[in-house]
Amino acid sequence: MRDTSDTEDKLIRCAMALPLRDTLDYRLPPNAPAPPTGARVIAPVGRRRLVGVVCGQPGSTAITNDKLRDLESILDEQPLISADVMALLGWASTYYQHPPGETYPLGLSPRERRGEPPATSGLPGFQLNLRGKGLAEHGLERAPRQRALVDALLERPMTRAELICKGFSPGTLRAVLARQLIEPVTLQDHQPWLCHEPLPANSEQAEAIRTINSSLGNFQCHLLEGVTGSGKTEVYLQCIATALRQQLQVLVLVPEIGLTPQLLRRFRARFSAPIVTLHSHMGDAERDRNWQAARDGTAAIILGTRSAVFAPLARLGLIVIDEEHDASLIQQDGLRYSGRDVAVKRAQLAQCPVVLGSATPSLESMANASTGRYQWLKLTKRAGGAQPPEKNIIDIRGLALEAGMSPALDAAVSATLAEGEQVLLFLNRRGFAPTLLCQDCGWVAECEHCDARRTLHKRPPRLQCHHCAGTTPLPRRCPRCDQARLVASGLGTEQTEQVVQQRYPGIPIYRVDSDTMSGRHAMAAFTEEVANAGACVILGTQMLTKGHHFPRVTCVGIVDADTLLFSPDFRGEERLAQLLTQVGGRAGRGDRPGRVHIQTRHPDHPVLASVLELSWAGICHGLLEQRQQQGLPPSGGLAAVRCDSPRPEEGMRFLETLVKELQKHPGGDATRVVGPLQAPMARRAGLYRCHVVLTGPSRRAVQARMSQVVAIAMAQRTPSKLRWFIDIDPLEPL
Ligand code: ADP
Ligand code: ZN
Ligand code: ZN
Repeated sequence: MRDTSDTEDKLIRCAMALPLRDTLDYRLPPNAPAPPTGARVIAPVGRRRLVGVVCGQPGSTAITNDKLRDLESILDEQPLISADVMALLGWASTYYQHPPGETYPLGLSPRERRGEPPATSGLPGFQLNLRGKGLAEHGLERAPRQRALVDALLERPMTRAELICKGFSPGTLRAVLARQLIEPVTLQDHQPWLCHEPLPANSEQAEAIRTINSSLGNFQCHLLEGVTGSGKTEVYLQCIATALRQQLQVLVLVPEIGLTPQLLRRFRARFSAPIVTLHSHMGDAERDRNWQAARDGTAAIILGTRSAVFAPLARLGLIVIDEEHDASLIQQDGLRYSGRDVAVKRAQLAQCPVVLGSATPSLESMANASTGRYQWLKLTKRAGGAQPPEKNIIDIRGLALEAGMSPALDAAVSATLAEGEQVLLFLNRRGFAPTLLCQDCGWVAECEHCDARRTLHKRPPRLQCHHCAGTTPLPRRCPRCDQARLVASGLGTEQTEQVVQQRYPGIPIYRVDSDTMSGRHAMAAFTEEVANAGACVILGTQMLTKGHHFPRVTCVGIVDADTLLFSPDFRGEERLAQLLTQVGGRAGRGDRPGRVHIQTRHPDHPVLASVLELSWAGICHGLLEQRQQQGLPPSGGLAAVRCDSPRPEEGMRFLETLVKELQKHPGGDATRVVGPLQAPMARRAGLYRCHVVLTGPSRRAVQARMSQVVAIAMAQRTPSKLRWFIDIDPLEPL
């Protein structure tokens, strides 16, 4: 029987690892001290026991609830997620309207999510054991490498990486380990944080560095708008140096894993300090370790992709986001968040500056810079005196093209190669051809799971859908009329590669697309090889635009700008302008100026004209005016309720009811509801997709209306296989 004199049960509010829209309250075990916010607990949910994160003490109303259950155990005495990251995650859960139980675990490493204790942050290494220390002078005479390894470890224990660096092979390490002369240890990296000599900054760089440095210790958002090759990275390096000298940690976010090796190399050359990476392609053990190194403050620089924005940091002093415009900073499932926007919020909570760098900043950031919310820092000249590229348009109307190339582009490529220089050809379509069709009956190879055609690939031969990855063997005869007159139509990188090879014999061709560049080191190895190569052709998709440097390229050809001109996405023109500016920026970074040739059948299109004539700020000015007229971001708020269902009518019916209910709720005067509509690709991977769009004069107005939507959707009964989710500031076309 309960003690009636003490009716006040001590309660604790937890976000349990479940897609629940609410947090749950639990009774503390008697006499147990209350776990702090940010600690993990184990508690029952239904018939399961789950890990949860303590996110506060509930109000007194919950005390009367007799359905309350007991907390099973408390895993951490100290908060594992610090107060600022808890605040960040709470904000993200509210802003993106995502279940807290699926949001708070983003502040934990993989093993911590499983309820295990945090990893130790040190690096794997080796030390001599007693046998090793006592090895006779003539021991291992026949295995000199193994002897040398033992001698090296006589000085002090060393990390595995250090030993490999000293030329010991993994085989030698294994052999000595097998002889039981050494044992594995975890070593802390206690080197002092040192910064080597910087490049002498030019006046624009110096101004940017001074401004950013003077904001250390306060929240300030800086937009570093610098043309490609203007030395943005040098600005980051010098600001990072200032932070490190104050023993502050720096978080650096990049959109793609492929960009980490390049940046890592420059960081390692500049700083003698522990640098750790965090991204989804690393093993859990390494991720656990690096996570802990960030938390305990041993890591000086944390370089990661978007999810690193939630990493624990003992002494965060500066956040840098490179290529801030890049769509890969946006998470597209689970908690759909913008790594950039969350980073800005984090900087605000941590009271530190954040630097957003890009040659082509997003319209959102440009708008913030022009109103003065962001400090606008500009680098208008290429560092090291390289000339900006010249751009010209090739009108391909009525021309005979070979592999998509006009005689004018062919002439430019030939001339460049004859000079011993490099050419970059951009074609945003991988595979051999986007369509396989029957010349007799008109049959077209389509995906059985998506409203899309399957792409013809020749190496290896297959038909593949680029939306669901579904693959089928290449048919020899038409499946409908059984004639053998199947032809490829349209152009992909495989085909262009073939034709270019025949056209310029003896010239090496590098094809860069997701078929050839798999694995996180592939791209880094490739850029390094090309930087040291002579005349060659680099042919690839948008992978080429991701901030990689090709200093010896002097001629860039955009094979088909038209595929990008007419897009269903309201961000299409912004993306096209970004792409043309970014690809163009890859050319002529050395001592020779570059030329960009843009092939199009719409030479008078205003976006192309503006890319030729205007600076990025000028291009954005026009685009921002358009957005204002359309009431679209950044001028207004935008959000979507998306719905996937195996049957087409289910999703539409669910959303129709939702909209009808929403109209009954007051408060939506400022916002507008559009839909339900089918998604531009209504069926993908076997699911039918539809959505309702919400627009309004501000993000806040849309957000308020969206909370009503969530409440209504929660109250609705849904068919078991129907899934709905909220997409705030959506990226995908609507
Ligand atoms: P971004 O990041 O803007 O594309 P980088 O920082 O990569 O530009 O700089 C482009 C090139 O210019 C690099 O080779 C870099 O070493 C060089 N560079 C940058 N700043 C300077 C400087 N102040 N003096 C000389 N060279 C510089
Ligand atoms: Zn046919
Ligand atoms: Zn498909």
